[in-house]
Amino acid sequence: MTEPSSDELGADLRRFVDVSPTPFHAVAEMARRLEAAGFRALDEQDRWELTPGERCYVTRDGGSIIAFRLGTAPLSSAGARLVGTHTDSPTFRVRPRPDARRVGYRLVGVEPYGGLLAHTWMDRELTLAGRVAVRLGSGELDLRRVVLPGAPLRLPSLAIHLDRSVRDGLKLDPQRHLVPVWGPDHGDEAGLRDALADHLGVAADHVVGHDLVTTDTVPAGVTGADGEWIAAPRLDNLASCHGGLLALLDAADEASPTTALLVANDHEEVGSGSAEGARGPFLADVLDRLVAITDDGDRQALPRTLARSRLVSADMAHAVHPNYAEQHEPGHRPALSGGPVMKLNANQAYATDARSGAWFATRCADAGVPVQHFVSRADLPCGSTIGPLTATRTGIPTVDVGAPLLGMHSCRELVATADIGLMARALRACLIN
Ligand SMILES: [Zn+2]
Repeated sequence: MTEPSSDELGADLRRFVDVSPTPFHAVAEMARRLEAAGFRALDEQDRWELTPGERCYVTRDGGSIIAFRLGTAPLSSAGARLVGTHTDSPTFRVRPRPDARRVGYRLVGVEPYGGLLAHTWMDRELTLAGRVAVRLGSGELDLRRVVLPGAPLRLPSLAIHLDRSVRDGLKLDPQRHLVPVWGPDHGDEAGLRDALADHLGVAADHVVGHDLVTTDTVPAGVTGADGEWIAAPRLDNLASCHGGLLALLDAADEASPTTALLVANDHEEVGSGSAEGARGPFLADVLDRLVAITDDGDRQALPRTLARSRLVSADMAHAVHPNYAEQHEPGHRPALSGGPVMKLNANQAYATDARSGAWFATRCADAGVPVQHFVSRADLPCGSTIGPLTATRTGIPTVDVGAPLLGMHSCRELVATADIGLMARALRACLIN
């Protein structure tokens, strides 16, 4: 295998992020790349017939995807190696009746999705993206992915002259202050539904629903003195989706007794509680089916499979911040370009323990990848991710890891290009061992 250079991987990640403004777009792009590599699409509604070594993928409700290369041995005897990520990022979600008019402006009603850093969304060129439910002539419904062209939306800051209290800290009330401006109001303009219908080339009364969010329109870029960093929206957690996908595509090239699987769930930023989220049954359903196929209905095969499996939960980690270094535990300060960060928490906000952590560290050591560690300060609460949820749901020994990142949940986050390559190599090492 000739490994692509860090710069090539960085450029590929930027392309991936740019075409993935929402989980629906990210999953479509992952599916496109999987199909190009020979993976076959499965439908949850069908009965699956699979042969050993086969490569397939399946999506759930557009925003979650599982892709796998089946092992040549039954799952109960060889287990599976899994990478878990999430497809969603903090943003603003458009309300069902979004049109608002105020003092000569048209606005779009939204509510915050996930724990966003609201001020980073101010004064940026925004648009709307997601999917729209269209009623067809036959009466059936079609879900269409959309990105409104241009940069029609904006959240303008208030001038400092009109509120000097901002010097004591900016306070943004989501209901009053975080309503994107969409244009001037002359009293006769059509609303958002008409704009969507126009864009899709359908009648306005055929637009019957939407899952739309705001998205930054400025393409991902490179930054840092020598261009060694990537500045982009949604790196948490599209960078891990990208790394997991590269690792699976690479690992799937070679036959192995062990099944390799990538799961990317929607709704992590709001707690993962949905049919397609990590607290839902998507992964368990797929594993159940795969075991039923490879082990011919043996009732003991599933628990044997889970006990023999390992899962790497890949979500971004906090790199130490030069202006806020004291926010990190002094003995645990992950550096940009320092390699994957293993995340631990005494209270199980992360699933890593000695067994799963040592397994990951050993895979990394064999692959020549350095490993860093993160724990929260004892006096600060700890974030969480899909790792402990998936471990709780399936019982699979799990390790929580992530590439170091600055500005987590900002509209524009920052990651080091070197870490993209190191993480892909680490995940590949985990999928093939
Ligand atoms: Zn995340």
